[in-house]
Amino acid sequence: MSGTGGVTEMPVMDSEASEVLATLHRVFGYEAFRGEQEAVIEHVVAGGDAVVLMPTGGGKSLCYQIPALIRPGTGVVVSPLIALMQDQVDALRALGVRAGFVNSTQDFDERRVVEAEFLAGELDLLYLAPERLRLESTLDLLSRGKISVFAIDEAHCVSQWGHDFRPDYLALSLLGEHWPDVPRIALTATATRATHQEITQRLNMPQARHFVASFDRPNIQYRIVPKADPRKQLLTFLGQEHPGDAGIVYCLSRNSVEKTAEFLSRNGIEAVPYHAGLDAGTRAAHQSRFLREDGLVVVATIAFGMGIDKPDVRFVAHLDLPKSVEGYYQETGRAGRDGLPSTAWMAYGLNDVIQQRKLIQSGEGDEAFRRRAQAHLDAMLALCETARCRRGQLLAYFGQDPDPAGCGNCDTCLTPPETWDGTVAAQKVLSTVVRLKRERGQKFGAGQIIDILLGKRTGKVIQFDHDQLSVFGIGEELTEGEWRGVVRQLLAQGLLAVEGEYGTLVLTDSSASVLRREREVPLRKEPGKPAAVRASTARADRKPKAAAAELPEELLPAFEALRAWRAEQAREQGVPAYVIFHDATLREIVMLWPVSVPQLGTVGGVGEKKLATYGDGVLAVLESLGGPPGAAVADDGTAGPGGPEPAEDLPEPEPDDWM
Ligand code: ADP
Ligand code: ZN
Repeated sequence: MSGTGGVTEMPVMDSEASEVLATLHRVFGYEAFRGEQEAVIEHVVAGGDAVVLMPTGGGKSLCYQIPALIRPGTGVVVSPLIALMQDQVDALRALGVRAGFVNSTQDFDERRVVEAEFLAGELDLLYLAPERLRLESTLDLLSRGKISVFAIDEAHCVSQWGHDFRPDYLALSLLGEHWPDVPRIALTATATRATHQEITQRLNMPQARHFVASFDRPNIQYRIVPKADPRKQLLTFLGQEHPGDAGIVYCLSRNSVEKTAEFLSRNGIEAVPYHAGLDAGTRAAHQSRFLREDGLVVVATIAFGMGIDKPDVRFVAHLDLPKSVEGYYQETGRAGRDGLPSTAWMAYGLNDVIQQRKLIQSGEGDEAFRRRAQAHLDAMLALCETARCRRGQLLAYFGQDPDPAGCGNCDTCLTPPETWDGTVAAQKVLSTVVRLKRERGQKFGAGQIIDILLGKRTGKVIQFDHDQLSVFGIGEELTEGEWRGVVRQLLAQGLLAVEGEYGTLVLTDSSASVLRREREVPLRKEPGKPAAVRASTARADRKPKAAAAELPEELLPAFEALRAWRAEQAREQGVPAYVIFHDATLREIVMLWPVSVPQLGTVGGVGEKKLATYGDGVLAVLESLGGPPGAAVADDGTAGPGGPEPAEDLPEPEPDDWM
């Protein structure tokens, strides 16, 4: 089939539809498409342009990889993630896909080999950095070969007002002019309407069909806890729920990244730092270890993570408040791409609010910029303070309809927070702020206000005669922690504001209505204990979470044996373990306990090429264990525990389906 650029709606023949599904089975070994994948792929295979918005981990890659495999010619993938191209290409080659890349990390000879393969029509996929497309030589090379589809990955990088702008992306608007007959597909996980419009405009894709997937990530459990001693809280969280798991911890500053990584290492959790202040070599080494090793923790600033498609990241933890819901969702989305249970955990407290508000006030940028930053922060605070379902709030933010009954997999659904009438408490705080304002020239933050309410005669209280104020000691009914919670929530609700570099608390336009008793102030009770811990984590052994995730205890040794076998394969080939098989695949293998190669081929993630390469190896590992654990065999002897189906019922693929 030849390209039919500009055509947005084309009927898809049945034979094409089945070819698309057959490619999914044969090459990738997956049973079915997820969400919008099939619609996108059929549209692009038929020659249409597409703009695809899917959450991180939603499965964007297949949307261009399968069209590239089906349409004649090479699929050209534009991606800013140079450091990851080698891994992406390795993963594709392991599937039997003919992939290559051209970027600045290669020497002349390496590049020439790839270019020759492209010109000879021997590549299914060619990855390019966007800056390459500025070079005459690249355009010349591309015009001498045959291109099946252009994929523009991380397409939000074309957005000048977004968080990842790359000037080189602007040149991509030319692709449509140079190659009017080649379909283009732009993909991103940044979902706001403004970004969406900008992508379509700047990439010059007015004809494109738009696919907006559900942004829900049901396997991620969202939790936000009050911050007390964040590093210790993190340690407890990891020890109880994610021992031995891979994960990312985000901090705001380089300094706290370094300190947290040290702290975790000292406490027996293998952790490495990652931030822009480290030299490029160290950064690359730490990223590579994260991808290759099982169970490493990376402590990072937001500089880390874009495009990292490690499927088995089991948790993402935030020790500081992200600046926007977009940022938070993108960062937490790096957890659980394999669909297995994962946690997005954040510790959040009063200082976060004050610090972020201060940053915006003292930061650069004009008034409009500041207002936008303020609005982003307000949405983030609303998420932190909500007493309703967190997932519901997130989905609503991205313009999607949440389940009104709640999700059942976030802290507020699992342990609904209690609310209380905080009107009087709010009035006490605001009255104190009013009185301190009368102290000419002096600036006081939350600490002084709480000390006054609690009637503490600290040095600073006595120095300014604050023990003489009528509000001194009127707040002894709450603890210091509870008062911090009150102040934090007043800030989040816009009933208090922060001013100047010292974080002075001041009234807002809305404060007066509270002081005049014209409105009530419902507040969330601070939970005394950390919120719900999944029932399945009660088994607090030292087993990685991925193993414990819904796998019967008696199958864990087999799972571990397969992981050990996989680690050895990965080491021999110098590729990340997940390039061999994902955890989810190993899990399914031990559940099914296949005894033949065709039966193994029915497992998700075991495609044609992997079956041929590893089939015997996997079966040998299972055999060496002497069959499934005795207790696990069903009475009729057909299936392991929870095995999806009795072996007899499994469709036997045609022999040449897999050989
Ligand atoms: P994204 O680029 O959208 O973040 P990926 O393309 O990396 O996501 O896919 C996320 C994970 O989901 C990958 O591990 C991929 O192999 C897996 N995946 C994608 N599509 C399917 C599918 N239809 N069935 C099973 N697994 C899938
Ligand atoms: Zn919920």
